[in-house]
Amino acid sequence: MSDPNELTVLNPATEEIVATVPAASEEDVAAAVARAVRAQRTWAALAPADRARLLRRFADVVDTHTEELARLEVREAGHTLGNARWEAGNARDLLLYAAGGAERLLGRQIPAPGGWDVTFHEPLGVIGVIAPWNFPMPIAAWGSFPALAAGNAVVLKPAEATPLTALRLAGLALEAGLPEHLFQVLPGYGTTAGRALVDHPDVAKIVFTGSTRTGREVMERCARLVKPVTLELGGKSPNIVFADADLTAALDPFSFLDNCGQDCCARTRVLVQESVLDEARALLADALAAVVVGDPADEKTQMGPLISARQRERVRSYVPDDAPALRGSAPDGPGFWFPPTVLTAERPDGRAAREEVFGPVAVLLPFTDEQDAVRLANDTPYGLSGSIWTRDLGRALRVSQAVRAGNLSVNSHSSVRYWTPFGGFKQSGLGRELGPDALTAFTETKNVFISTEGPAQ
Ligand code: NDP
Repeated sequence: MSDPNELTVLNPATEEIVATVPAASEEDVAAAVARAVRAQRTWAALAPADRARLLRRFADVVDTHTEELARLEVREAGHTLGNARWEAGNARDLLLYAAGGAERLLGRQIPAPGGWDVTFHEPLGVIGVIAPWNFPMPIAAWGSFPALAAGNAVVLKPAEATPLTALRLAGLALEAGLPEHLFQVLPGYGTTAGRALVDHPDVAKIVFTGSTRTGREVMERCARLVKPVTLELGGKSPNIVFADADLTAALDPFSFLDNCGQDCCARTRVLVQESVLDEARALLADALAAVVVGDPADEKTQMGPLISARQRERVRSYVPDDAPALRGSAPDGPGFWFPPTVLTAERPDGRAAREEVFGPVAVLLPFTDEQDAVRLANDTPYGLSGSIWTRDLGRALRVSQAVRAGNLSVNSHSSVRYWTPFGGFKQSGLGRELGPDALTAFTETKNVFISTEGPAQ
């Protein structure tokens, strides 16, 4: 039974306690929002160039703490050191990108008879960000930094399992000279602090990343207050491999094993053209056997543990012991380990082929031709990411138009760049983060018409 007043952060590779932190109550959330309302007024009144200068200083401070942040992410989330360094760098780079955006958040002048018509982008006020445990640092950054750059204050609730890097980022913001209470991090439970943030009338918008189930509840609660919401939810992304593709690159197992598969963009449905199915199976078997699973703090490790015992149980429920599968290896306990796995006889309508497993588990599904590949790729309630592998340019373009997903890559498995938009179709979410429009998502557009007609003569 968890203590309602306290969060215990475990190292998922050792099951040792890393830290305990107080859990925010509903009253704590209300007090934080009140402080944020005051901080936001002063922040929004600053010249954009002054906001940009402070955010660039924040980026410099994050840069000098990259290694500390990365090692904290390894301890609280079990990420490999290489990934965690990328994540700290991603937070720094997004700060710099958003700082530039603050200086370029331009309105328009629209021709109108009888006067001048101008539009302004005004900050929304206080933004509530609810982050998950799978990428604690980048997802905290994506929801928060463009919002700050656009002149808002942020109250962020990290996941109960992973509050430490977000708390450290808030400390670094103060070191960099950002105003007090502008960027507050409130660790707490979703059903207490998370709900309080969603329901608070002075929180102008919610950015939520997590499961589709919780996202649906967040959206319903926001609807009661007609509060805008950005949702980044689950995924069940296809990796479509045609027979003419570079099979070794296409079947890179880290397309579904990165972050131990706890990645909403993981390509967990490996769709392979029938004529190369045997070759694909052999390549995947070799690749899984070669994956180095173990201590995430070791530079040589390629895959760490799952986040928790609960998550391991969930992942196990998709992989019966007797299921035909290709399997790599994983250490014995302590730690929440699970071996890299590809289920080879799952049906397209089976549970593991349809639900987000959020572990190092993919399903291998054959297809006959282009039409069949598109049909299978779209046969899911999700639509976040996907890869298309072929040397035929026309086919690559046709398939990328036909697949209903927000972030596709052709002959690549890349999904996330801070300068391009990120978000899902269908039940993968609502709205976009990152990219050139990231700041406008945290503003209201105001239109003002100024009459140039003189007084009647
Ligand atoms: P949740 O969606 O429940 O949690 C995400 C965040 O929402 C956490 O900060 C959580 O807090 C908070 N939260 C939980 N309930 C509420 C609520 N009622 N109101 C407001 N905030 C709330 O995900 P889980 O951690 O339970 O993970 C379950 C599954 O969800 C995973 O196995 C995976 O399939 C999927 N998932 C997908 C993610 C993605 O990026 N698409 C990210 C994380 C999970 P708390 O930590 O206290 O629960």
